[in-house]
Amino acid sequence: MTASDLSGDNYGFAAPRGRVYESIVNVVGGTPLVAVPHLMQEDKIKARVLLKLEFFNPLGSVKDRIGAAMVLAAEKEGRITPGRTVLVEPTSGNTGISLAFVAAARGYRLIVTMPEGASIERRRMLRLMDAQVELTPSRLGMAGAIARANEILRETPDAWMPDQFDNEANPAVHAATTAEEIWADTDGNIDVIVAGVGTGGTATGIAEALKPRRKGLQVFGVEPAESAILNGDEPGPHGIQGIGPGFCPATLHTKSLDGVLTVSEREAIAAARRCARLDGIPVGISSGAALHAALQLGKKPEYKGKTIVAIAPSFAERYLSTSLFNGL
Ligand code: PMP
Repeated sequence: MTASDLSGDNYGFAAPRGRVYESIVNVVGGTPLVAVPHLMQEDKIKARVLLKLEFFNPLGSVKDRIGAAMVLAAEKEGRITPGRTVLVEPTSGNTGISLAFVAAARGYRLIVTMPEGASIERRRMLRLMDAQVELTPSRLGMAGAIARANEILRETPDAWMPDQFDNEANPAVHAATTAEEIWADTDGNIDVIVAGVGTGGTATGIAEALKPRRKGLQVFGVEPAESAILNGDEPGPHGIQGIGPGFCPATLHTKSLDGVLTVSEREAIAAARRCARLDGIPVGISSGAALHAALQLGKKPEYKGKTIVAIAPSFAERYLSTSLFNGL
């Protein structure tokens, strides 16, 4: 065996990136599209289902894109200054972790407010990156965290809230990067895109960038069946973290979508587990929801031969203490 036998190409590994990054913030994006051949085989699917693996982002979720974009856009507009502005955001989810790495890398203080119930892993990750975590009473839910963040904003000089649910840099970065990556990696040969709706930034950005470019392209959102407000139901508690916030955010442009599919927590978890077991891709719960919806579409005769891309926002390990791992 020679050294050239061991080159990445021989194994079908990814090519070298051909550059050195000056900051971790520049590593955001460029995530891979990966097939799930065994899932397709088991479900006898005649469409081609691909997953866009957003856990290849530096801090492991799709939210790294908006964490970076919201901060860099505000910097460009002169609204915030490294070393001076204090960033304040209510979030118990991936957005906090994404803002924390950008804040650390660019020199901002960050205060994250969240309900007491949020997992210890998340709090510790935030503190590891020097973010300040303020816990609010769990009986007040996210509303309590939002109220406290607004209070801090009023009390703190030169404080700024990225406000992921009402910041147009959110859908804009998905139009400029997530959508363009899908287009480039498939040469535009895509028929359907499925994305879970939290802020709606991912689905909206992709739809607005790609639908005008490809006639017939369908973009579907996904929401929890237990809280299907975009389908006219009442909001309710559910276990699909990251999607189904219980209201219709400003960053979701429903008119740009072809519809919003509903998936139950049970179906999302089943799909996420099958993805890990059959194809070796341990995704998070909301990825399972998008995957389930994509597989359901792929089973329909009218999608035979079509390419369906499902967005996988995060990695299974971020949900170690949830029902994704029950019984394991
Ligand atoms: N899944 C997970 C795990 C997330 O953190 C998010 C972002 N809240 C989403 C899905 C939904 O993405 P978006 O906010 O762009 O709708």
